[in-house]
Amino acid sequence: MPGAATVDAVIVGAGAAGLSLAAHLAAAGWGDDVLLLDDGAQPLEDRTWAWWSTGGGLLDRAASTVIGAADVAGDGWARRLPLAPYAYRVVTGPDLAAAVARLLAPRPGYRRLPGTARSLAVDDTGVQVAYEDPDGRARAVRARWVFDSVGPGAPTPVPDPEARLDFLGLHVETDADVFEPGVVTLMDFRTAQDDGVAFVYAVAASARSALVERTVYAAPDAPPPPHDQLLEDYLRDVVGARDHRIVSREDGSIPLRSSPPAHPMGPVLPVGARAGMIKAGTGYAFGRIQRHSAAIAAALAAGRYPGRAAPHHRWARTQDAALLRVMRSDPDAARAFLEAMLTRNPGPRILAFLDEDLPPREHLRLYATLPLPRFGRACASGSSRRSR
Ligand SMILES: Cc1cc2nc3c(=O)[nH]c(=O)nc-3n(C[C@H](O)[C@H](O)[C@H](O)COP(=O)(O)OP(=O)(O)OC[C@H]3O[C@@H](n4cnc5c(N)ncnc54)[C@H](O)[C@@H]3O)c2cc1C
Repeated sequence: MPGAATVDAVIVGAGAAGLSLAAHLAAAGWGDDVLLLDDGAQPLEDRTWAWWSTGGGLLDRAASTVIGAADVAGDGWARRLPLAPYAYRVVTGPDLAAAVARLLAPRPGYRRLPGTARSLAVDDTGVQVAYEDPDGRARAVRARWVFDSVGPGAPTPVPDPEARLDFLGLHVETDADVFEPGVVTLMDFRTAQDDGVAFVYAVAASARSALVERTVYAAPDAPPPPHDQLLEDYLRDVVGARDHRIVSREDGSIPLRSSPPAHPMGPVLPVGARAGMIKAGTGYAFGRIQRHSAAIAAALAAGRYPGRAAPHHRWARTQDAALLRVMRSDPDAARAFLEAMLTRNPGPRILAFLDEDLPPREHLRLYATLPLPRFGRACASGSSRRSR
């Protein structure tokens, strides 16, 4: 193959996981030659990620927006949750890229490699990464390690998700002050619930402009939800925005799985969504991607195998699987579970629970607030229906 070379690592895919891992590896001082192979199919200009953290993370300061309080609401109730010591952060693709570029600047051996990965072949001395350059020429590079967020030529197809989060976001502008910057609407259930457990999420850029997003936990084969009209209803009836203009729209679907679709294979390590970083109960991955990236970098810097660095907790995965099952079998029970969690617990406890970072005593306190018997019955009936 022309252009073959041996490098310390190839990171396949320069999205959330690829960029984050490159930043963590560079900050740990690991590796002389690290290539970030990306096909450019998902321009960073179009991307945004949100997460919460306590502020000590390598990329926390990259956040374009930092928010200290969250609103949650449902039929007949509403609550504002102070989040400290957490903050809710949103980073745009360009801001993330700029922060990563600053971290990579002292390490010239970290380079971008435009191209489309085609296959990975493991042998005794490393991994052969076959890719196509932007002119369509077949190329290859050898690496000691491959961190893969794509799965080129993967022998096993990624299994179907157990559910998906379907969403439509509208960036809207109004003529009156109706939004509150500095507060994120994390989950507002005051939207029609006919198509599954649904909620509205909103982040304001100013009192007159915001991203307002409707999300539904949908079965894998469910038809697209009627978000447009329901967002219009929400803006009029809940926000009180009589007149508004839609500046832009973004829709998407996040596959939810309670187990990772790919496992480490020697020097090839899945990262990002492929490594199961999307938490099945919430659809968030960015915070977990940061923890996974930090753990991989720490393992490599210490000369340890990085394949056991994934921040998975078996009990949390079991809970997520149960929640997805109840979402399908008894959406009312799932909603009651979420509403109890949101109304009866302080914000930091909720966020730590969702982060799988809650100490055992706090866990018990949170469980004591939840309608567990009803949830358990719904889960059992969902399992038996599935097995039939
Ligand atoms: C629309 C949407 C919004 C989301 N928002 C959030 C959020 O706000 N907060 C959160 O925590 N999670 C969010 N998620 C979940 C998760 O964080 C994202 O999916 C995240 O981008 C996953 O990171 P990744 O690196 O695995 O994949 P990606 O970020 O998608 O990166 C994969 C990269 O690989 C490139 N690529 C693909 N095929 C090839 C190939 N053959 N060769 C080379 N390059 C290739 C792609 O172009 C892309 O740049 C969202 C998911 C979706 C779908």
